[in-house]
Amino acid sequence: MSFAIQTNVSLAEYTTLKIGGRARFFVSAKSESEVIQALDFADTNDLKLFILGGGSNILIADEGFDGLVLQIALKGVSIVKEKGESVYVEAAAGENWDEFVAFCIGKNLQGVECLSGIPGLIGGSPVQNVGAYGQEVSETIVSVRCFDKSVSRIVELTNAECEFAYRASVFNSSEKNRYIVLAVIFALQLGGAPKIVYRDLQNYFVGQKPDLAETREAVLKIRAEKSMVLDAQDPNSKSAGSFFKNPIVSRENLAKIEKRARTIGFEAVPFFEIDENNVKIPAAWLIEKSGFDKGFEFGNVGISSRHTLAIINRGGATAQDVIGLKNFIQAKVQQRFAVELQPEPIFVGF
Ligand SMILES: Cc1cc2nc3c(=O)[nH]c(=O)nc-3n(C[C@H](O)[C@H](O)[C@H](O)COP(=O)(O)OP(=O)(O)OC[C@H]3O[C@@H](n4cnc5c(N)ncnc54)[C@H](O)[C@@H]3O)c2cc1C
Repeated sequence: MSFAIQTNVSLAEYTTLKIGGRARFFVSAKSESEVIQALDFADTNDLKLFILGGGSNILIADEGFDGLVLQIALKGVSIVKEKGESVYVEAAAGENWDEFVAFCIGKNLQGVECLSGIPGLIGGSPVQNVGAYGQEVSETIVSVRCFDKSVSRIVELTNAECEFAYRASVFNSSEKNRYIVLAVIFALQLGGAPKIVYRDLQNYFVGQKPDLAETREAVLKIRAEKSMVLDAQDPNSKSAGSFFKNPIVSRENLAKIEKRARTIGFEAVPFFEIDENNVKIPAAWLIEKSGFDKGFEFGNVGISSRHTLAIINRGGATAQDVIGLKNFIQAKVQQRFAVELQPEPIFVGF
């Protein structure tokens, strides 16, 4: 075998929460053939498998992972096709997401500017259809090159086959654990105007026409103010980003939640339209109105003092501490508004 199989590897440092036990086996695969060899090793030894990207959307159990953790470290970004104003860029799964965004903006390519500053790697981006400030990767992904474990070969999924939805795709729902993302192809628009649809960005640029680089700067600045960019000096950024998804509810259910809210003294429940039947309620509002302020402390964990949705490791936290606070928040929101909050990160080894 051309790569090292490590044993008993501490996983905490591979995550942004800096929490978690050890992996029985750990491989960092730098080529597609190494990915396939590592999968063979897991198969032959009947090991459970976990695919690791940048570790920015996971909570690893204190007991660690009793199987093989396969880190995808494939590199390479290249322009593969140009068709009119559309420029197709292929990025390998192990490339850093934000460096890819910077690369696109450096080439004056529009389509991912609002996604500046999101931690993690390219391979993780289609998994939960990363999104921020009014943009999602599903808007620019053309296809995803994957290893399909069910047929043991490399396949290319089209955008439609990825079944993208809010924080969802085939990769984390109907076909969870089937595909290993090897590379993603994006179609970006040469010289396109930045997407300024989100309120925070509109307020930032009132009366101005920013270019792509200015939009990226603004997004990075707004995110930093909320501790939503990784910064070793900022204790609020030791998180997995938003810990809860914004719940999507039917209008009928919204009416019930509004009625319940009125009886406990809230005049209105904020929401965003999804379609004619459904709306999205900000999880941050539900959490705050259930009694959790920014900066809430719960032993070694807490809520970021700059972002209600981020559960942070205040120092020396365990996965059980995180689960304790998660359960507490979910129970309070359920009790107050009868809404079940769903966590966004993936739980590994529980
Ligand atoms: C401070 C902070 C801010 C954040 N802000 C945002 C935000 O604005 N919007 C947003 O959408 N997310 C946000 N996130 C969450 C996270 O950054 C994204 O979900 C990111 O895309 C996860 O990528 P990753 O490489 O770190 O994946 P990991 O955390 O390593 O893995 C996440 C999941 O994807 C799977 N996976 C990873 N790579 C592959 C692969 N190559 N093939 C198959 N499966 C794979 C893993 O098995 C796991 O199930 C934030 C996180 C932090 C810490």
